[in-house]
Amino acid sequence: MSEYYKKFLKDSEQVAFDTFHREKINNTIEKYNIAVRSGKRQYENLDLAKNRAAGIKHKVLENLDKYLYEFELNFENNGGRIIWAPSASDALKAIVAILKRNKAKLVVKSKSMITEELELNKVLENESIETLETDLGEFIVQVANEKPYHIVTPAMHKSKEEVVELFSEKFGIDKSSTPEQISAFVREKLRDKFINADVGITGVNFLIAETGSLVLTENEGNGVLTSSIPKIHIAISGIEKIIPTLRDLDLFLPLLAVHGTGQNITAYNSIISGPKQNDETDGPEELYLVLLDNRRTEILKHKELRRSLSCIRCGACLNACPVYKNVGGYTYNSTYTGPIGAIITPHLRGMNEFGHLSFASTLCGKCTEVCPVNINLHELLLINRQELVKFGIVSKKERQAQKWTYRVLKKRKRMEIANATLKNRAINLLFKKTWGPRRTLPVFAEKSFNKIWEEKNKEKNKR
Ligand code: SF4
Repeated sequence: MSEYYKKFLKDSEQVAFDTFHREKINNTIEKYNIAVRSGKRQYENLDLAKNRAAGIKHKVLENLDKYLYEFELNFENNGGRIIWAPSASDALKAIVAILKRNKAKLVVKSKSMITEELELNKVLENESIETLETDLGEFIVQVANEKPYHIVTPAMHKSKEEVVELFSEKFGIDKSSTPEQISAFVREKLRDKFINADVGITGVNFLIAETGSLVLTENEGNGVLTSSIPKIHIAISGIEKIIPTLRDLDLFLPLLAVHGTGQNITAYNSIISGPKQNDETDGPEELYLVLLDNRRTEILKHKELRRSLSCIRCGACLNACPVYKNVGGYTYNSTYTGPIGAIITPHLRGMNEFGHLSFASTLCGKCTEVCPVNINLHELLLINRQELVKFGIVSKKERQAQKWTYRVLKKRKRMEIANATLKNRAINLLFKKTWGPRRTLPVFAEKSFNKIWEEKNKEKNKR
């Protein structure tokens, strides 16, 4: 059992029974559910939109090399520079080199999960480069010295009172401050930073192959400022973020907005096609795009798991997942959490260390149902589990337990061999630990249904 697995079991046990945590998460997710229900009403045929989006993503993943090549040509024609990063350390080296070459002292960042994947802030801190998150939720978790809790709502786990308490302690704001006052305070604080930043770092929501453009979608306008005020803009994207044409945004932007936050469309949508041109007043003088592989091509090689690369990071599967809602975001101990995180993390960070996440699911299928790009998440979780068994990563005890259960369940005669006491003992021996201390194992009845039925029929025949 890996250290990560042990920690997962310990943390999930603790968080699942923290009623305050549960209340906060359920409240936020309930508000989200109401908004999403209303957002979906803009569609006459949502299933058709989802099928089309899934089809486009499928086409892209089947021809990723071709689309990446097309994107690269167009992006560089627009004046941008691409940095291909096979691994996280390649990406970090390249980013630090740009910052050092330009003697950067202050970096502003807009919300991006890929920079979390790279643990970029820690690296920049070690280089003595001040890095400031400019999305409100990200800013809150940065001030709290924490990581994002959720891929769309980074500070989902914090109540309004907790945020006020935190800001009062760190910045001395009044404890009676309202959310509006807190937002105004942060906006004021960030304004100077935007103006004085040497470099802006953002993630990317979509890469358009046809035009070589980056697409950023966000609600606070901080992404627009991060990508346009500093002289240098570094965007970081996974290689899977490609869509073929500009027209495809028509499909993907509303799908992402509705499933992410319930909005018809996100407030700020930027299409960035190269650095500032001679006849333009705004924009960075230099634009870099770090295209990160970091084991994505390993996932791409896998015929079925490849579908997980269609993810547009809307977070809907997290909000739908009964396990996520109980154990919370931090318990996964990974950048990507919930059902999609449970699928890709073992491949991005190692099956031995993170394979257990594939079992953090009831396989109820709700995640698959809500996914805007029709990823068959619960089936992919099963494929991960099969891989774990195939490569012998599942413990010997677990394999033996499953093998015996399979053999016994396969034949009615075998099921009837032992009496209830013996069966209860065997179940206790095999499953007590995995079942956990808070649940009672099911108890075998003295007589099985089969036995009762047999006896009833015998009695009937006697009469
Ligand atoms: S897997 Fe689907 S539902 Fe989950 S975050 Fe990605 S796009 Fe959204």
